Amino acid sequence: MDFPILDTQVYGHQLVYLDNAATTQKPQQVIDALSSYYLTLNSNIHRGTHHLATLATERYEAVRQQVQQFIHAANTKEIVFTRGTTESINLVAATFGRQFIRKDDEVIVSGMEHHSNIVPWQLACEQVGARLRVIPFSDEGVLDMEVYQTLFNSHTRMVAVNHVSNTLGTVNPIQEIVRIAHSHQVPVLIDGAQAVAHMPVDVQELGCDFYCFSGHKMYAPMGVGVMYGREELLNQLPPYQGGGEMIKDVTFEKTTYNELPYKFEAGTPSVGDVLGLGAAIDYMQSQGMEVIAHHEAQLMDYAMQKLSSVPNIRFIGTAPGKVGVISFLLGNAHPYDVGTLLDKLGIAVRTGHHCTQPIMDRYGIPGTVRASFASYTTFADIDALYNALLRIAPMLD
Ligand code: PLP
Repeated sequence: MDFPILDTQVYGHQLVYLDNAATTQKPQQVIDALSSYYLTLNSNIHRGTHHLATLATERYEAVRQQVQQFIHAANTKEIVFTRGTTESINLVAATFGRQFIRKDDEVIVSGMEHHSNIVPWQLACEQVGARLRVIPFSDEGVLDMEVYQTLFNSHTRMVAVNHVSNTLGTVNPIQEIVRIAHSHQVPVLIDGAQAVAHMPVDVQELGCDFYCFSGHKMYAPMGVGVMYGREELLNQLPPYQGGGEMIKDVTFEKTTYNELPYKFEAGTPSVGDVLGLGAAIDYMQSQGMEVIAHHEAQLMDYAMQKLSSVPNIRFIGTAPGKVGVISFLLGNAHPYDVGTLLDKLGIAVRTGHHCTQPIMDRYGIPGTVRASFASYTTFADIDALYNALLRIAPMLD
């Protein structure tokens, strides 16, 4: 069993873990990498000359290379380690904002963004009197690309959209979004939090300028994430945080900054978690990203078909080719009640607005119940969800 936690019993039932969009469980290989770091390698990187510091630095930098290859970045200078997607987006919004966003400028986001791809841009805009423009989406959960094209003008400074919606499961047409933005000389940031664990990602093929994701949603420990940025653009941005490691020379008069990617990695990073991220990438690649994507696509077909026959179910997000998540409501029942009853049957789902309140407003609902998949999700897990929903539906009438 690669995932020991999946053996957990919940109220006398075998755990069925369907909250993978919030965080995935960790395979033994990742747990081992983390404990082995603290057992045999723990030391601060980059600044040390001693044996452990040298080894830890080598391993840390080797993971940077692994990430570069995993997302097909052009070089390792473009891979910045952060604490997660949220920090990655804040880093770009704050530094890009300081450098390029001025009064009356505009940032385009979509109506289906996670709060962490809305609020950092709002903060950057509020500081200078700029504003957000929003790409609307259809009832199925598909972005309106015609409206998108009309949002550009001479004040547009950035487009920030997610690759996959954490609430609707929609896979957005990133290449097309980038093509249109670039035709207006506007860079594009992609929030890849819900994509990297579910499909092969090639940032050069997508053509995006920034791509952000979290380790903990791709089998790695919490506390580590990645901000990919095109070298040419990263070179134009000021540092995010000041501190150790991001400097070249410091005097009280003036500080010069380190080269990429260290300019953006102030302070001691979460070294053990980065090594865990390396183990997680190994784990996914040993299965094959295409294989994972295929398995999850079959699960999605099976689940949508099966759950459709649950009385009074209403799906929120039915875009063709959607991945990873199924959001739904059961009659007039509050999502929280559905989630609580499922929990009593050992089924872990998420309920609420999933940090996407504008999506809830768009549909006029308080929240949804969300079941989300990982590579270890089985058809039996879907059956368990289905049977549980049939059992609880009459209780909610
Ligand atoms: N973006 C999306 C699409 C997400 O689903 C999430 C987390 O749910 C985030 C951003 C934020 O990720 P984190 O909390 O790991 O920074």
